[in-house]
Amino acid sequence: MTTELRPTLRPARLFIDGQWTDAASGATFTTVNPATEEAITEVAEGGAADIDRAVQAARRAFDSGPWGRMPASERGRILWRIGDRIEAEVAELARLETLDQGKTITDSTKVDVPMAADCFRYFAGWAGKIDGETIAVRAPCLNYTLREPIGVVGAITPWNFPILMAAWKVAPALAAGNTVVLKPAQLTPLTALRLAEIAAEAGLPPGVLNVVSGRGTVAGAALVQHPLVGKIAFTGSTEVGRDIMRRGSDTLKRLTLELGGKSPNIVFADADVDMAVRGATNGIFYNKGEVCTAGSRLFVEEALHDAFLDRLQAQTAKLQQGDPLDPKTRLGPQVSEAQRAQVLAYVEKGKAEGARLVCGGERPPGRGYFVRPTIFDGVRSDMTIAREEIFGPVLAVIRFKDVADVLAAANDSIYGLAAAVWTRDIKKAHQTARRLQAGTVWINTYGLYDSAMPFGGTKQSGYGRELGRQGLLEYTQTKSVWVDLA
Ligand code: NAP
Ligand code: MG
Repeated sequence: MTTELRPTLRPARLFIDGQWTDAASGATFTTVNPATEEAITEVAEGGAADIDRAVQAARRAFDSGPWGRMPASERGRILWRIGDRIEAEVAELARLETLDQGKTITDSTKVDVPMAADCFRYFAGWAGKIDGETIAVRAPCLNYTLREPIGVVGAITPWNFPILMAAWKVAPALAAGNTVVLKPAQLTPLTALRLAEIAAEAGLPPGVLNVVSGRGTVAGAALVQHPLVGKIAFTGSTEVGRDIMRRGSDTLKRLTLELGGKSPNIVFADADVDMAVRGATNGIFYNKGEVCTAGSRLFVEEALHDAFLDRLQAQTAKLQQGDPLDPKTRLGPQVSEAQRAQVLAYVEKGKAEGARLVCGGERPPGRGYFVRPTIFDGVRSDMTIAREEIFGPVLAVIRFKDVADVLAAANDSIYGLAAAVWTRDIKKAHQTARRLQAGTVWINTYGLYDSAMPFGGTKQSGYGRELGRQGLLEYTQTKSVWVDLA
């Protein structure tokens, strides 16, 4: 396996100040292919000393490197070239992502990598268009604002969409003129490290993007606490989000937090059933349920419930599970053994609390961290599987009577990341969308994203927005300048 990797990933090392480097401690860890349980390669395990080295390099690049003096449009040209290079390397990057994460090669080739390329190009276009304002003040003065970069941004990413979550943070941070230290998830570090190399090949000056793989509780925590880091952009669990808020408070970090979810997917009896069945299936089984916006609570209106469940089960039975490198595969393995164990523990809890297992609920024989796509019916909103984020292919089906009933149940969650509504009644669709507590609502579709669309959570799903103009501005700060004219 190892020999198929490019030499710079054998072993994979830290990328700091434009150079590959070992961890100061010399420590390494092994990244594993979850479909085969085999080692892919060794990876340097960065610690606090390496984070400090990377942050110092990023600060130098910000203060005195070419990056800070470059016209903004030139930064945009470099970002555009990074997008082009990602696209040119789609086959290699998609394969790396699939090996490391277990997502299907179809998804990494058609979704993750092209969307990462698009994200760089989208923000490339913004680089030269970040304007301040002229403010009409009372004094005889000229007052204007500058939208300035924050400085060094720390990006901490999860393992479910490794290159895409890196792109969502790195591209807007760089477009706004910041420099970045990225700490990818230990389970899936390879595409982030390759991205650093690609960015350097595209002309990004040394120190502007540094990637330090390592443990969250060590390298991640060091990044959060580093006094020279101005902002942390984090995607991951709500639990770690809380820890980042606490630790970040010592140095008053600016934060954007994209956290967990337990998204309601609501099917009214007047829905287009074919579309809703596909939407419900993709909503939960896409990326084997390892999606923060997974439609893990499926609310079905009583009159449609039985027929819908039959259709859902039939559709689920068609999903081919297996080798994620096979283009026909629709469901790969969970990312790790621990993640599989967590998913199976939730299945047991669902059964113990009285939900009815319709299908799945077990691991298939053989190697790889697979879990069969699982549907529970007869779920009540107070059951654990309806309240906690499982982050696996487990769907909780809940019946409802009417709009008031379903809105109360759907909003009864600490999370508020996404939601969906399926109905042919346009009024009901928009009314429900307004009343759902969520950062994104899909109507008669599920799981659409665009680099131009602001994405993020409400309640304990986090705050701040990624992507779009709003996502860009999260990487800037405003300065007011006064000029006496009297
Ligand atoms: P996680 O455990 O929160 O980890 C996310 C990242 O934070 C990893 O790089 C992790 O490092 C690092 N980390 C862990 N502890 C840390 C600490 N104390 N200080 C600083 N960094 C730390 O989440 P995950 O298990 O990777 O991903 C699954 C979770 O992410 C789910 O709950 C899901 O809902 C959420 N998620 C949310 C979104 C969104 O946009 N809202 C998107 C994707 C995923 P290591 O793991 O390498 O140790
Ligand atoms: Mg791995």
